[in-house]
Amino acid sequence: MKTTRIVIAGGGFAGLYAAMHFDKRLARRADVEVTLISRENFILFTPMLHEVAAGDLFPGDIINPLRRILCHVKVVEADVCTVDLTGRIVGCRGGIAERELNFEFDHLLLTLGSETNFFNMDGVRDWSVTMKSMSDAALLRNRMVALLEEASLEKEEARRKELLTFVTAGGGFAGVEVICAETHGETASAAPAVQLELSALPPSCAPECIPA
Ligand SMILES: Cc1cc2nc3c(=O)[nH]c(=O)nc-3n(C[C@H](O)[C@H](O)[C@H](O)COP(=O)(O)OP(=O)(O)OC[C@H]3O[C@@H](n4cnc5c(N)ncnc54)[C@H](O)[C@@H]3O)c2cc1C
Repeated sequence: MKTTRIVIAGGGFAGLYAAMHFDKRLARRADVEVTLISRENFILFTPMLHEVAAGDLFPGDIINPLRRILCHVKVVEADVCTVDLTGRIVGCRGGIAERELNFEFDHLLLTLGSETNFFNMDGVRDWSVTMKSMSDAALLRNRMVALLEEASLEKEEARRKELLTFVTAGGGFAGVEVICAETHGETASAAPAVQLELSALPPSCAPECIPA
């Protein structure tokens, strides 16, 4: 019996929903093999990522293991590196030793998502924290906590203001959500330096929108 191999590259919203569809139907058949390959073995609920960055939610609140959702689709945690359309092979690296893994396919779904676009703004690329993955959110939260603590020790007002100035590049949905969460979230409201700013100088703590 010939097995039809379906490979889904990327386990975000698009990849997972396709896999869930296959899980209920084709993946149950003996002559069909469905494999989902993704960098992480969990789905990240991005609409609430800013709340992890702000310390309002725990990371575990917004992730769900792929294997808990999928019963018949095989899940592989690996980085997709190459796609050979002629030979019909997806080349990956996975595991602690970053071993080479190859997956042959009859049908391929490419659902690798997007990358942050810095629009050639080198300064933004070099200095900013992106907001796309769980490690981005953790990095932003840790960096903010460190700066807030530093500000709480600072006696000089100008320096304290500098430490408490955060710029969000990009005022779309995600940017606005991040800045609101950071200014009103658990981390900021628990920091003594910010409490001082809020009580003494309310307008300086309000987010400012600068068209640029
Ligand atoms: C902070 C934030 C907030 C958002 N809020 C909302 C919202 O409120 N409402 C809304 O509708 N949309 C929101 N979005 C947008 C939404 O997350 C995206 O539109 C959606 O995730 C796109 O789905 P996708 O499957 O195409 O890509 P993704 O969900 O990004 O999935 C891509 C997957 O592929 C994996 N991957 C990428 N490259 C590789 C590789 N080389 N090898 C292996 N795996 C790889 C990634 O790790 C990821 O798991 C938000 C996005 C962000 C970043």
